[in-house]
Amino acid sequence: MIVTENVNLIKSIPSQYFLEVERIVFEAIANGNKIDELKSELLKRYAITNRRAKLIAKDQIKKATEMLERRQLIDAGVTKGFWLHSGNYKPGRARKSHVEAAQRAKRGEWYDLRKGMLIDGRFTHPKELVNCNCTRKIYAELRQLSRFAVDKNIRMAA
Ligand SMILES: [Zn+2]
Repeated sequence: MIVTENVNLIKSIPSQYFLEVERIVFEAIANGNKIDELKSELLKRYAITNRRAKLIAKDQIKKATEMLERRQLIDAGVTKGFWLHSGNYKPGRARKSHVEAAQRAKRGEWYDLRKGMLIDGRFTHPKELVNCNCTRKIYAELRQLSRFAVDKNIRMAA
């Protein structure tokens, strides 16, 4: 699942290496090494530029972290998400549809964490697209929250 969601984002690395990249990404997360170490690892192994390696490392760590967290939430029975736009972007660079998704969320529209939010005609998760810094709030009950490590975006049911 991780691979299929990420495949299109790593165009500069031949597809036969995707599984290997996935393994390196999760090792980096598990070891707490994260971006810099992943970048060096990618540079060592593949014929890509420094800039490209950094972009891929940042992007993959963000995506994989979001996916792991989402899976923990779903495992705990949490399925309602509210799209949040990062808010920090250069003027004119924000994805209009992602800003709109956050406005839809403010009006009470939620999406199913198992599917993603319908944006531009396709079900999307925060950070799935390159350079997307969007995130989400969740709506959960107390008993569900006790089942996983609480993150800072949690909103408790009354
Ligand atoms: Zn976004």
